[in-house]
Amino acid sequence: MVLDEFGIIQHYFSRQATQPSVIKGIGDDCAILSVPEQQQLVLSLDTLVEGRHFPASAAPYDIATRAMCTAISDLAAMGATPLWFTLALTLPDVNEAWLEAFSRGIFDIADSHTMDLIGGDTTCGPLTISVQVHGCVDPGQLLTRGAACIGDHLFVSGNLGDGAAALAAIQGRITPSSEVLKHLHSRFYAPSPQIVLGRQLLPFSSAAIDISDGLLADAQHIADASGVGMRINIDQLPIDSALTHYSDDYYSWALSGGDDYQLLFTVSDDKIESFKRYSIQHALDVSAIGHVVDASHGVSCYDQGLPYSLPANQRGYQHFTA
Ligand code: ADP
Ligand code: MG
Repeated sequence: MVLDEFGIIQHYFSRQATQPSVIKGIGDDCAILSVPEQQQLVLSLDTLVEGRHFPASAAPYDIATRAMCTAISDLAAMGATPLWFTLALTLPDVNEAWLEAFSRGIFDIADSHTMDLIGGDTTCGPLTISVQVHGCVDPGQLLTRGAACIGDHLFVSGNLGDGAAALAAIQGRITPSSEVLKHLHSRFYAPSPQIVLGRQLLPFSSAAIDISDGLLADAQHIADASGVGMRINIDQLPIDSALTHYSDDYYSWALSGGDDYQLLFTVSDDKIESFKRYSIQHALDVSAIGHVVDASHGVSCYDQGLPYSLPANQRGYQHFTA
């Protein structure tokens, strides 16, 4: 017998919540939650559409982990602590093997961040997945796009360009070794949300964003929100040496490829020494890549101190443009 909507929810998504803050989870018209005392709630919603955010050939487990990781990454960028999430699922048909693998992917990532699924929506149509994440912060203790100041130091976490290289490999534009392919595959389908780092940055950093559209585009988002400019030294960008073997495009992958889900963040000059000490003590995987400058400079790049310009069509991804 083919499962109906309620069968799907019951069978694959109804799970006992683990946190006492979930007064009522899945099963009623609404979830009921008790927001941790003296905390502010932080919310974000992300949608993945088949053929747009992941290829139609993607495995259900991978689609699920990508949906979860990219959504949770927004909490990391605010320095928030993850709590709960809701899931809106639009499915073309009922395929139990697909649902089994998909729900496993959802809960594997949820468990790794101690998040409870508290509700959602299940409909029939072209494959689309929306994940709304909820987290909390101490009042005022968070990272925002609008808090960068002239003179701040600019950092990124991890490596840049992996997401774009992964997409190039998935689309057959490059043919890496099976070992590199495996690594890129996991960077694309399960990019690690930088939750721990986001919280570690709270005493040192005021502005941050997760790099989903590409370093330049996301730097521009901070620049616009803060009314500042950015000077980025591309010779300091952390790029995995494995990538440089497969294409000469690695600078544009790192600058405008997107899908890296690393954090771009600022540290003010008066905190830079204590931040450097902390990052050595805690072995933070972060790189200094430039400075915040005044708005008249825009977001500009330098290579070995000389101005570097990227073709205008490589400044990051936006929906509804071409
Ligand atoms: P309503 O019609 O009152 O909006 P639904 O029938 O859509 O309620 O959903 C019934 C319950 O199942 C609700 O608690 C809802 O949050 C939950 N739910 C529906 N779809 C999902 C899903 N994909 N994942 C988790 N919970 C879901
Ligand atoms: Mg209802």
